[in-house]
Amino acid sequence: MINEIIKEAEDLLKENYDWLDEVAEVNLERVLNAMRVHQLSDMHFNWNTGYGYDDVGREATERIYAAVMGTEDALVRPAVASGTHAINLMLTGTVLPNSKILSITGKPYDTLEETFGIRKTVGLSLADVGVEYHSIDLTENGTFDLPQIKSILCSDRPPNYIYIQRSTGYSWRAHISVEEIDHVVQYVKNLKSDCIVLLDNCYGEFTEKSEPNVDVMAGSLIKNPGGGLAIAGGYIAGTTEIIERIAARMTAPGVGRDVGLMFGQTRSILQGLFFAPRVVKDAMKGALLFGQVFSMLGYRVQPKVEDSTGHIVQAIELKSREKLLKFCEAIQKSSPVNSYVTPVPAPMPGYDDEVIMAAGAFVQGSSIEMSADAPIKEPYNVFYQGGLCYEHVRIALKNVLVDMGELRNRR
Ligand SMILES: *Cc1c(COP(=O)(O)O)cnc(C)c1O
Repeated sequence: MINEIIKEAEDLLKENYDWLDEVAEVNLERVLNAMRVHQLSDMHFNWNTGYGYDDVGREATERIYAAVMGTEDALVRPAVASGTHAINLMLTGTVLPNSKILSITGKPYDTLEETFGIRKTVGLSLADVGVEYHSIDLTENGTFDLPQIKSILCSDRPPNYIYIQRSTGYSWRAHISVEEIDHVVQYVKNLKSDCIVLLDNCYGEFTEKSEPNVDVMAGSLIKNPGGGLAIAGGYIAGTTEIIERIAARMTAPGVGRDVGLMFGQTRSILQGLFFAPRVVKDAMKGALLFGQVFSMLGYRVQPKVEDSTGHIVQAIELKSREKLLKFCEAIQKSSPVNSYVTPVPAPMPGYDDEVIMAAGAFVQGSSIEMSADAPIKEPYNVFYQGGLCYEHVRIALKNVLVDMGELRNRR
């Protein structure tokens, strides 16, 4: 019965899967080309100590990343602690004091509110150096609000910077396609050619055949581009001029990018990049499979299968606290690490409700590895994400269905 429903779902998903196979191959080809053009060799996997001057491996890694992201230059550092850190560096390195920034995808991801100064805390925010922040929401159909963008850009004091968040985070909106981002960037530049576009690219990498064409973007190595092998780090990719500015912020003005150790991580960062198109593809297939099976069982899912060619986070409305717990327990039990642990709801800073989190990952907090989390509140939405390989997703899905007792009451 379980095997049948999964097979039935897979048959329905065949076209989506074929498309994702194509996406992964195009992306891997771009990665391989970058490694060939920049003559990656085993000598690049050595590393040094102290300041890290003339680290050829670090330099090769950054050139390869720039080529893969389609930008002039890039910084790729294991000492960048998270996606938030990378995006904070991007913002504070690029945005000048007393300027104006406009987010055109609504409020930024939660953890960036302090960077913008939306939420006050210790540490200099953009607001503290006189940067004015505004945001406009996406339209009801989840697209850019072009008329409003136009009227703001053509106003007396237009913004100097535009900020875009590509992926959904944990909201119910769909992610924004590369085509739409490229289009809005052109639209912005036509209205105000010196406006700089910054992108939160977390969770976006390798979900489509190319990366968006923006002035600068940033992301986390323990999400998509690390391919499950990078143990930490972040990247920032953009124009030569902006990357130089960010590098000066990252270390010190006058020192910039020429220092900073790789701590022996060059090999796993690059091997992870090599695997990333495949890993991201399998995670996207997994999200589609969960979405398809649960909608066949009568649940509301977001995004809907027919609305998405590729996403990493699959939200499912489980409608019952008990089912939610069973779902998360089954994911935990199906994990390679800490499978014996039982996840329990607990209070979390920044959330009004208790939160349950199931994950058993090789890299702590890695969200390209399989996990499920949920706030304990109606209608009991669970956010399922990741999975390093498709077989793992299938096995976990079977465990989830059995433990939830799902198939007994089908039709
Ligand atoms: C995960 C994420 C971030 C922050 O990355 P962390 O590594 O969790 O700090 C920012 N934006 C988006 C869209 C994300 O998904």
